[in-house]
Amino acid sequence: MSERPSPTDTGRAADTTFAPGPLLLLGPPGVGKGTQSKNIERLWGIPQISTGDLLRANVVQGTSVGKVAKEVMSHGDLVPDALVNEMVAQRLSQPDTARGYILDGFPRTFGQAEWLDGWLKSHAGSPPVIAIRIRVNYNQLLRRITGRRSCPACQAIYNVYLNPPENEGVCNVDGVALIQRADDKEEVFTERMRGYQASTRPVIHHYKALRRFAEVDGDRTIDKVSEEIVSTVKRLRKS
Ligand code: AMP
Ligand code: ZN
Repeated sequence: MSERPSPTDTGRAADTTFAPGPLLLLGPPGVGKGTQSKNIERLWGIPQISTGDLLRANVVQGTSVGKVAKEVMSHGDLVPDALVNEMVAQRLSQPDTARGYILDGFPRTFGQAEWLDGWLKSHAGSPPVIAIRIRVNYNQLLRRITGRRSCPACQAIYNVYLNPPENEGVCNVDGVALIQRADDKEEVFTERMRGYQASTRPVIHHYKALRRFAEVDGDRTIDKVSEEIVSTVKRLRKS
């Protein structure tokens, strides 16, 4: 059987002839956004830009943005739009963003989305943002997260529903009792999902209204999801 090479084949050099432009990946925690971003990064040779990462770097470096962000982030609140926008403008001015980039965690509010559209318009040559939501079945995601257990000794990962250990509650390798991460508990998961939905609703609405929004089915293999993201970006860039 001859199979087409996967678009995310690690052995291949990045396709630098295609300019995907600004992409925004949306999806709840645990949906594989990080993995998909890495695949796209490798495939098209464009950087991933995470405002969470940029903010944490500012905190570590003790910049003026970092001083404000540290306080706000410790309460789990959103850093003010003006600060985040300014930080993003600086990052987007770097040469590695010329053909495109993958935004992660930005825009997170309606104001940020409007600011970004305006900024891109005023920077000649940049196409508008395409937003792609990775959609997954809620119950499947719940099982993926709340079923996760790990071995504190050898770090092996199990899932009580999808990939259980041979003997309940203990590691196959060393027999050590498995543990559950605090933020994998169902109450925490539900709370994080609620927060995610509330914060992305206005952003999704914004890009839907502009017809620059698409959904891909995230309940499939990593490579299938990547393939669909790739074809979706190509289709939307043509229209
Ligand atoms: P994340 O790593 O995306 O979960 O972000 C961690 C924290 O950084 C968030 O809880 C916010 O406090 C802050 N943050 C990240 N991105 C943004 C954004 N676009 N707007 C405001 N605050 C943000
Ligand atoms: Zn172990």
